[in-house]
Amino acid sequence: MKLTLASPLVREFIGKNAGNDAYRVIKCLSKGLTDEQISKKTRLEVNEIRAALNRLHYLGVIVYSKEKAARSNWYTYTWFLKPERINELLLDNLQEEREKLARKMEMETGYVFFKCSNGCEKLPFELAFEYDFKCPECGNPMSQQGDSRELKTIEKRIELVERSLGKLARNG
Ligand SMILES: [Zn+2]
Repeated sequence: MKLTLASPLVREFIGKNAGNDAYRVIKCLSKGLTDEQISKKTRLEVNEIRAALNRLHYLGVIVYSKEKAARSNWYTYTWFLKPERINELLLDNLQEEREKLARKMEMETGYVFFKCSNGCEKLPFELAFEYDFKCPECGNPMSQQGDSRELKTIEKRIELVERSLGKLARNG
């Protein structure tokens, strides 16, 4: 298995670092194309494409060759994708994110909250302890709560990152 350009993480990475137009541009670059050819394929304006190409080139994920037209001083640029560079950048990015997520997970599981059954405001352990685990608003007993929705979101993201890292690593 290999991460393809259609992978949501590739889309997210390119979108974040070079913009959504840039993602549309690289998706059509399976072979070398000129600005005009890219414009036809993406239906983006040539000036939008040039801006996207500049950002992609700055990221190092595309290269060009230029050719001078026979009877003018105009150069034609043909752009090529460097998929291995995208993989490299993505790998670095995902490893970094995995560390951040692990720290976030630690934080989330490290803070314990207490809440009554009436849905009043949740309190951190220290405060709940001061109130003798009785809700200061309604007087009901408070029990321990984990913010399971937030944790689930982090867990899901970690899963996606791990899975993609596995694919990238196997890809070399
Ligand atoms: Zn309450």
